[in-house]
Amino acid sequence: MPTKEEFVVTPYEVKGHIDYQRLKELFGTQDLTPALLDQIRVRAGGELHPLLARGIYFSHRDLGETLDRAARGQRFFLYSGRGPSGPLHTSHLLPFDLCRWLQQKFDAPMYIQITDDEKFWVRAGLTREETYRWGLDNLADLLALGFDPKRTRVFFDTRSIGAMYPLAVDVAKKVNFSTVKSVFGFSASQNIGAIFYTALQSVPCFWPSWYAGRAIPCLIPCGIDQDPHFRVTRDLAESLGYPKPALLHSVMLPGLLGERVMSTTGDSKDNAIFLDDRPKEVERKIKNALTGGRATVEEQRRLGAVPEICSVWALWRAKFARDDAEFDEVTRGCRSGELLCGDCKSRVLVRVQDFLSEHAKRKEAVRATAESLIIEGGERSDGSGPVVRGEIPLP
Ligand code: SF4
Repeated sequence: MPTKEEFVVTPYEVKGHIDYQRLKELFGTQDLTPALLDQIRVRAGGELHPLLARGIYFSHRDLGETLDRAARGQRFFLYSGRGPSGPLHTSHLLPFDLCRWLQQKFDAPMYIQITDDEKFWVRAGLTREETYRWGLDNLADLLALGFDPKRTRVFFDTRSIGAMYPLAVDVAKKVNFSTVKSVFGFSASQNIGAIFYTALQSVPCFWPSWYAGRAIPCLIPCGIDQDPHFRVTRDLAESLGYPKPALLHSVMLPGLLGERVMSTTGDSKDNAIFLDDRPKEVERKIKNALTGGRATVEEQRRLGAVPEICSVWALWRAKFARDDAEFDEVTRGCRSGELLCGDCKSRVLVRVQDFLSEHAKRKEAVRATAESLIIEGGERSDGSGPVVRGEIPLP
């Protein structure tokens, strides 16, 4: 979606300096207002997840209606996904950290989609076996965040296709090529797998309703770059008899090398901290990370630094501050010049290394059972819904 504002945000391309206010206007999404945050806080027993409290989630579609319905007893399920092209980095965890919290606070079933087919179609240089293997590995990383296995299921596209395909067929009939072309910016040379894929990404939004034979609302926390997929889904939902999915959008965090988004597709792996990075690698990356600091210690003491443009502050903000008090202390110290970048980096480094080491243990613990959560099956003989192996958690 090229714009005059010189930034581009689509599910397949993010570039330029993103003006999020302008992006909200362009996409037609709503502000995540203090009133909505209060509603979540009250329902969550007085707490707010840091990703909500610190403004990383900033925009939504139909969140208010979803919360109102939940208050009236029509509870929602959560859905978010991952396109497996390599190891996960810390920014990939944003939607899943929030989902895990929402699952716990709202007792909501969680559906994770692993889009190994899509990554194979859109990413050059990856074999199908590689995207499949990364899919299983990424799934173990996501489950290691602490999702409740009784309330969590997985659509692993190449394995779950039997249970998904009849619904994907219904969706695909409603989406024409000119919509996909204009929403995603595809050219005539795009392979037809990517063109079909938006049907598959819509399936988890409707699948629990199809399975249960009743309308169940869906809430999708995701980066705002994924919004175009779900605009298409929302536009066709009611014509298929399903509720429009609600969305909660996050900003995209800057990479360690500057203003670019933290990405695995850039020209350097040093732009992000990957969950499988060794401690020495993490140390080197954080040492080299671009900050909002001044040219000299004297200047920084006198003028203070600028956290909003600092990739290290983004780490504190998104995940690594222990609590709000520590986050406020880092932010205040940064602005006032009391905290110097070297000390700040040493502190965050310890947090990141501790997290990665604990995460690796949790990942190994869940690896053996991860595949048991994958939905596999087909359609009932009367076509009234899917028939699958095992129990499906519903709200
Ligand atoms: S003190 Fe910390 S948060 Fe502030 S600019 Fe330096 S590294 Fe970034």
